Amino acid sequence: MIYLDYQATTPLAPEALDAMLPWLAGPGGAGFANPHSPHPPGRAAAAAIDVAREQVAGLLPPGGKVIFTGSATEAINLAILGRNALQIAVSKIEHAAVLDTAKARAGEVRLLEAGTDGIVPADVAIPPGTDLVAVMQVNNEIGTIQPVTEIARAAHAAGALFLCDAVQGSGKLAPPEGADFIALSAHKLYGPKGIGALWVRDGVTLAPTIHGGGQEQGLRSGTLSPALCAGFGAAAALAVRRMGEDADHVAALWRQARKALPDWTLNGDAARRWHGNLNLRRDGLDVARLMSDLRDVAFSAGSACASGSGRPSHVLRAIGLSDAQAKSSIRIGFGRYTTIGEIEDACARIAAATAAQGV
Ligand code: PLP
Repeated sequence: MIYLDYQATTPLAPEALDAMLPWLAGPGGAGFANPHSPHPPGRAAAAAIDVAREQVAGLLPPGGKVIFTGSATEAINLAILGRNALQIAVSKIEHAAVLDTAKARAGEVRLLEAGTDGIVPADVAIPPGTDLVAVMQVNNEIGTIQPVTEIARAAHAAGALFLCDAVQGSGKLAPPEGADFIALSAHKLYGPKGIGALWVRDGVTLAPTIHGGGQEQGLRSGTLSPALCAGFGAAAALAVRRMGEDADHVAALWRQARKALPDWTLNGDAARRWHGNLNLRRDGLDVARLMSDLRDVAFSAGSACASGSGRPSHVLRAIGLSDAQAKSSIRIGFGRYTTIGEIEDACARIAAATAAQGV
């Protein structure tokens, strides 16, 4: 199996697994205690979480706190619902975690347009009266990098706070500047599934959405998993160390894939993007048939959340593609553990299966 779906999730880094294992020990082990218990094993677990929190903070700007959550989706819900903003403005190309949470509240949702290049313009107009603006750092479907520093500035000038969903950018790019909230997910940066984080700028207030034991400074009750925190922390520290190396590797894979699939049209800007996301289309392509012909290549027909629904991707529609063009698009996602040989092999198979369709 060649795994080319790095936007859906990344493999767990061996270093992250090693950091997790001591905290999964059973009876007789030292690592199973509740990190919120005051006895020595509880304090040891709490200390491991403190280390992990510092490591995750290494992915983020100074001047804020890291609140661990169960996922980035939960972090985004905490920012949007915990802020209780009346008027929210979000880009049309946000992940469902932002779009659907914004729509689930009572207040109004204003949609910010993206261009045909897959980028929300840096000078996008923030509607007057907006309380909270949300724009992602890197789009999960097409990989385009958004000018979030400029949009954060515009949000503040309009009197709004700024939430950045940095799920697809964190560990790959420098953190977004000027945000008030940043959402992260461990499993997109070679950490474990089941843990995310919300970074909250110092001085910004938020109400909890989950109530109980008052953990995470009262913002997210529930017993933390030391194993998941330790895995997230190790993955974050590794990402910081390997950021340049990972980006160079991904750029080499990108060049190889583009060379191997020359007749496809790229969705989204070619330069202002994370190059581990190659979203391509070919008129007349039957994507379902391609996927069933290539069962040992794991790629995507769009975002994992939308695929299977049969609906054309809202992102591809928002950047001006027709339903037919959106439905003839595929996403090839690669990263740290993908080899050049795998990319060559997978692209050759994609090209052959496409030729067999006569498109
Ligand atoms: N935001 C973006 C851009 C994503 O790609 C994803 C996952 O696909 C999420 C949010 C949700 O992350 P999680 O799986 O941690 O809830």
